[in-house]
Amino acid sequence: MKKTANRRIVVKVGSNVLTNKDGALDTGAMESIVDQVATLREHGFEIILVSSGAVASGRDMVRSTKKLDAVSARQLYSSVGQARLINRYYELFSGHGIICGQVLTTKESLSTRDHYLNQMNCMNVMLGNGVIPVINENDTISVTELMFTDNDELSGMIASMMDAETLVILSNVDGIYAGDPSVPETPVIREIRHGDNVSVYIGAGKSSFGRGGMLTKYRIASKMADEGIEVVIANGKKPGILASVLLRGDRDVICSRFLPSDRPISHIKKWIAHSDGFAKGSLYINEGAFKALTGNKASSLLPVGVTAVEGEFEKGDIVRIISPDGHTVGVGKVSAGSGKAAETIGAKGRRPLVHYDYLYIENNE
Ligand code: GLU
Repeated sequence: MKKTANRRIVVKVGSNVLTNKDGALDTGAMESIVDQVATLREHGFEIILVSSGAVASGRDMVRSTKKLDAVSARQLYSSVGQARLINRYYELFSGHGIICGQVLTTKESLSTRDHYLNQMNCMNVMLGNGVIPVINENDTISVTELMFTDNDELSGMIASMMDAETLVILSNVDGIYAGDPSVPETPVIREIRHGDNVSVYIGAGKSSFGRGGMLTKYRIASKMADEGIEVVIANGKKPGILASVLLRGDRDVICSRFLPSDRPISHIKKWIAHSDGFAKGSLYINEGAFKALTGNKASSLLPVGVTAVEGEFEKGDIVRIISPDGHTVGVGKVSAGSGKAAETIGAKGRRPLVHYDYLYIENNE
């Protein structure tokens, strides 16, 4: 059900929107985004901004005397670039009488339910006091292997955490093209419904100044839509794009909209859905359990359906559920430690190892 007042929206702005062709910070583009966010606020929208551009805007500020390895370069540029970025946002929002605040996070700091709820509380208290959260990954301390794939992933996690109605991903292209984007006649796919597989159209190209690409945008957007959140991929370089997409609901504006599932999942399931990277172990399941879990009826995972237990985990940890053919079916919060789970493998009449309420089954269509 759509809320009519205080519609909560997450807007993700990519590095390519905030920088010029030569990689320098495009302050005009930032100004345009801030003006649009201010207008949306006047219309009762609650906006959370996920902004990339730290590395890109730091790169043209410092010249290292020595050749830097990739990690050191990211740390150096983001330390300078993020300060520059947030300063600019602060000034621009101030011009509208709006206060913004900085939230820097890492994937690891969302890995436990406590951390997750703490992060959520932070943003709720900011919004409750009229402060716009401007979020980025803390690239200065993120460990490469544990980083968000990119800020598309981060923005999905934030939209899910904050129960947003819509996630708008602003990039420097109009959306997902039904073919080669360099051919002028290629249309943008305007509406993507549950089960539509448009990944065949998407090249593996990466953004020139950020980490992401269209494939991760597509994956995140599909996942969010399944969770019940509408996702729009649109061109952030186009003047007034946010108003066209959100305010006027302008169906003529060229963008890709992922229609949300009409069966949104619970808040705890949303957290679990994004916890795959934090799984402490795996439960391998048999055909019977696989059919039950992937069927239409809500089912819990019982010990009788488990064939093997891998890894060391405790009660309350996140585990992966692995199908008989070896693919990850989903993730869940386990109700017993690995020792106890191993003891009950195949046992009938036992309590669920992962209760339905704490189980997220991925959509593999
Ligand atoms: N956190 C990175 C930055 O601000 C961007 C990551 C991405 O490109 O998605 O520079």
